[in-house]
Amino acid sequence: MKDAGKPQASGKPKLSENDKLVQRAERLMPGGVSSPVRAFKAVGGKPRFIARGEGARIWDVEGREYVDFQLSFGPLIHGHAFPAVGNALAEAAHHGTSFGAPTEREVELAEIVTARHPAMKWVRFVNSGTEAVMSAIRLARAATNRTLILKFEGCYHGHADSLLVKAGSGLVTFGEPTSAGVPQSVVQDTATLPLNDDVALETFFHAYGERVACAIIEALPANNGLLPQRPEWLRKLEKLCKENGALFIVDEVITGFRLGWGGASSLYGLKPDLVTLGKVIGGGLPVGAYGGRSDLMKQVAPLGGMYQAGTLSGNPLAMAAGIATLRALEQHPDPFGMLATRTKTFTQRVREIAADRQIPCTVVEQGSLFWIVLDQIDAQPRSPSVVKPEAVKRFARFHHACLQHGVFLPPSAYEVEFMSLAHDNAALDDALRAMDMAFAEVQP
Ligand SMILES: *Cc1c(COP(=O)(O)O)cnc(C)c1O
Repeated sequence: MKDAGKPQASGKPKLSENDKLVQRAERLMPGGVSSPVRAFKAVGGKPRFIARGEGARIWDVEGREYVDFQLSFGPLIHGHAFPAVGNALAEAAHHGTSFGAPTEREVELAEIVTARHPAMKWVRFVNSGTEAVMSAIRLARAATNRTLILKFEGCYHGHADSLLVKAGSGLVTFGEPTSAGVPQSVVQDTATLPLNDDVALETFFHAYGERVACAIIEALPANNGLLPQRPEWLRKLEKLCKENGALFIVDEVITGFRLGWGGASSLYGLKPDLVTLGKVIGGGLPVGAYGGRSDLMKQVAPLGGMYQAGTLSGNPLAMAAGIATLRALEQHPDPFGMLATRTKTFTQRVREIAADRQIPCTVVEQGSLFWIVLDQIDAQPRSPSVVKPEAVKRFARFHHACLQHGVFLPPSAYEVEFMSLAHDNAALDDALRAMDMAFAEVQP
């Protein structure tokens, strides 16, 4: 990559294979990508185009190998190109990829999901986490006949209009869109509160409780760093919802079938009315699901008046990948325990090598999720504001040094890292060696 842009004898700049692809992509697609964080804007430089993956590792189009901790932002709990998923997909594709009619695989995945996640009594499959959240909110509004929704600063729930809202100043704020194109009229019914704040919860429900259709939260916020919340605080939110006739929605798109069979809900002893799923239940294909109390789900069309549909929803490929992924978890003696142990051991080693290189570093971890902050911060951060601009800059340098030495981290200081069951000792030792060299290079 060193000589990218250097003039050749002909005078034409010589582009690497990767940068040729970047150029072709940027000519036709916004930022050259299909989802913004992939463009590397938060760490600078050019995105790496990936050619293939296997287990814990991926290879870019120029043949460089990386141990991958981005893992497609969470779906790949068994790692890349997991054979059981590949075989299930081949088998399904062989018999047709979509019918617009029900198939047995939907029933099978529904049976696994409802048997394993205590809050999921009934389920509807959709095509993404965004769609799951959008639909759950619509259902909450339909079921309560109320419009207000409550979300929390630092939580991400996909890109549905009504959730692209940020907190303004003041304890309770309504309707400041975080995206152009989201009308004030859509977000004026969305309230945003800070995480971990008892007073804010009480004040809000005191003032607006009777108008709230639902509160939605990532019970383990994992989209602006990893911000474990106090279980008492989460249970207070649940209690206030119940007392005020509002539905309590736990967004488990990341945590579902990753933190354990019952996701973050079970981990923290929560009993949500509705749950949203995605990522792991699709095994790397586009899948989402929402579900929960059967009396609520009976209000979804065609049984009830809440309309929600999808041409490709529940299609055989997506269902096959989800079934193969969850069945393999079922066949594993202790998948979530093993992931958690591996993550604990690995993150402890990361802290040690950073300390040896005198790099300020905090690694927050929970289950198979971890978050590297290149700063000395509270080991149990509750809010994304813990990340200082210096730590963001240091992370950008570290990210590129990691790429150089063969470790792929998500390209933002605010994204979390993922562990898979394919991250064996060989991969993790390679990653630690690479990260040690990367830490050496970001020394001030
Ligand atoms: C990823 C994510 C979503 C959105 O899912 P998409 O499949 O990207 O639409 C929603 N909520 C949470 C908590 C997520 O992590």
